[in-house]
Amino acid sequence: MLTTLNVSSIFMFRRKRFPTNLKDATPLCPEADGHVLRRRQPRFTIELFLSRQPHNSRSNRLKEEDQMRKLPILSVGKYSIFLMVLVGIGTFLTCPPFSHALPDEKDALDQSVRGSGISPESIRVHHQALVDIATKAGGFDSGIRLNEAGREAGEYLLRGYQEAGLSNVRSEEFFPNRWWPEQYDLAIIGGSGKPDQRLNAFPLWNCEGADHLELEVVYAGYGISGEFRSLDVKGKAVLIHMKRILHFIPSYQYTKALDTAREKGAKAIIVAEAIVDSPTGNPVGKIGEIKNQKAQTPNLFPMPVLSLSKSDGEILKKRLDGGATRVRLNLKCSVTPGKAQNIVGELPGNGKTNEYIVVGGHYDTWFDGAVDNCGAQASVLAMAKYFSQMPQTLRNRTLIFASLFGHEYGSNAEMGHAAFVEKRSDIQNKITCFVNIDGAGSWGWEEKGDTGEILPTNADDKGGIFATSWALTAIGRKAVYKYAKGPWGQYPLNSYVADLHGPISGAGWPCLLLISKHIYYHSPLDTIDRITPDQVYRRTLMNISVITDLLESPPGYLINADANPNRKLREGEKAQPDLTRNKLPQNPNPWTQGAPTELSVNIIPAKPYVFSPVITWVSYFKADAVEMEDQVSWDFGNLLGLVKPPKPNLASGSMYFLPGTKKISMTVTDSQGRSSSITREIMVSAGQYGFIYWIAVALVGLFCLWIIKVIRRRATR
Ligand SMILES: [Zn+2]
Repeated sequence: MLTTLNVSSIFMFRRKRFPTNLKDATPLCPEADGHVLRRRQPRFTIELFLSRQPHNSRSNRLKEEDQMRKLPILSVGKYSIFLMVLVGIGTFLTCPPFSHALPDEKDALDQSVRGSGISPESIRVHHQALVDIATKAGGFDSGIRLNEAGREAGEYLLRGYQEAGLSNVRSEEFFPNRWWPEQYDLAIIGGSGKPDQRLNAFPLWNCEGADHLELEVVYAGYGISGEFRSLDVKGKAVLIHMKRILHFIPSYQYTKALDTAREKGAKAIIVAEAIVDSPTGNPVGKIGEIKNQKAQTPNLFPMPVLSLSKSDGEILKKRLDGGATRVRLNLKCSVTPGKAQNIVGELPGNGKTNEYIVVGGHYDTWFDGAVDNCGAQASVLAMAKYFSQMPQTLRNRTLIFASLFGHEYGSNAEMGHAAFVEKRSDIQNKITCFVNIDGAGSWGWEEKGDTGEILPTNADDKGGIFATSWALTAIGRKAVYKYAKGPWGQYPLNSYVADLHGPISGAGWPCLLLISKHIYYHSPLDTIDRITPDQVYRRTLMNISVITDLLESPPGYLINADANPNRKLREGEKAQPDLTRNKLPQNPNPWTQGAPTELSVNIIPAKPYVFSPVITWVSYFKADAVEMEDQVSWDFGNLLGLVKPPKPNLASGSMYFLPGTKKISMTVTDSQGRSSSITREIMVSAGQYGFIYWIAVALVGLFCLWIIKVIRRRATR
């Protein structure tokens, strides 16, 4: 979730449908997407199912496990060998070779890292171990959270830090309250003798529970104000769809859908994924709340909010389209005292400066958390090992490694980051940089356009550079150009990611974040088969390159030139000039030839209304070199655009005052000034009050004519 992107304003699993089989059926290729596997090779679906019903009843779980044992593990029929060979060849042919590419053989850093006993395979061992801890409980219970897995992951990282050779390795405990869903169910009530249909729901974190509510459901699109206009949601359950804006931001946060539903008197909210076929793992909390939240007790959203997969959302929507639909909804949750730990270790510097470099990121996860953030933590362990083998005389700064807990869980989020910063007030002005390691490389998938289908990009996932100075940006860029195999995004300055390292940036520390998360993150589909060992290895090289440059930077320079708006200058201290943007390094090896290609755009809602926002964002494009956020511009072809043209941005939006067909254009300009555009048409309607609306428009028109007449008459006098 990125504050800078104008964010003003994601089972009863259908157990057969949920492809946990991917972990075991691993063709290392984006085609391994569950949908594709299921559709194209149904006979190869290995039917391993979640070990848990959404409600926690032990007897149910046992029944379930019993049934699972009876299900076929692999059913391929008599042509199995022949078909397997065919699929093997197909998988090989459709997997692009270049993303497997490692740095060329002469890359000095690669050689040095391998010489330290670090390889794609050795990092994978940590990666797999952390994912195994996260998945231990199985299904919805999985995830490194305030649970047994959270404790185990902390212990694993602590041992990892010790084995890597860090000194002063310790667990720093803190005590957040623990919101926990004890039981949750959602079912469409069958009525007139028909059986209920259970849906696989997962709660959004930090909402209030409800005891077996029976509610009528109303559909509110993406929850944009115009979509609520003619709805009576009072005392009902509101179904809204969500997309992941720029992979990161659940659209209900952008559209403020949950707040609107609450204000209009809804009793419960059901959030259905519009593209990803699994429920979402996310807090209800708004970004602003998360940023400033230091309280031990989460502010609970005053009604239950449950999320659904795309297909379960479609089932519910279909029933609604067929007439009045009621659901039975149950959420039992508790708030109890919890205990979490940050894992910290150090490598002392050579004493030439008194500065520190902090390398870290969060280790809590939703579900498997393979890309978010187990891979990154595996990478951190590798970095710890690498730098501990560097002679102390060469380490120009003290390195602090920190695995922080509690980023993911809404109002309690960032507790670990806040606790970490508070303990370090004594070194506040001595920190060269906090290097945030979030996401560690994966294949890319995108919903190209508004198709509702997720397609593999057959390349590494795109990433982004976020920094608090151009000087840090330059260091990030250099590493990205060298080790990323495809386009990355460059974001403007001071665009710290509030809920990624809010309290750290908030304390004024210089921050650098190199981040990428594929579109399945925060869902049970964030599995390790979506990531190859070389992808994490290359990201590790990228991170090590950054840290090496930070170690070698002149004393004081990066601190004094930092532009973090939260930085407080000490008495007598003067800020030094930062690099200027035009001095940033350019990509020596262009990622693409020619003008930007494969432009595609997302627009919500599908049926916009007058005087109600239309929200647009880049769903995909390929372009040479690092794109600045201001290289994407928008034209909404409307009156508002004439008065206040939209600022260039990856995500944008506007409003229309007149109904009719409208054209929305997105233009992407690459670093060499080459542009490409894409135009989409939308139909804006006046909604159910169309007749009254046109009368109002006619009256306004007549009034304007009258004014003109009066002015002319006066002028001719
Ligand atoms: Zn996350």
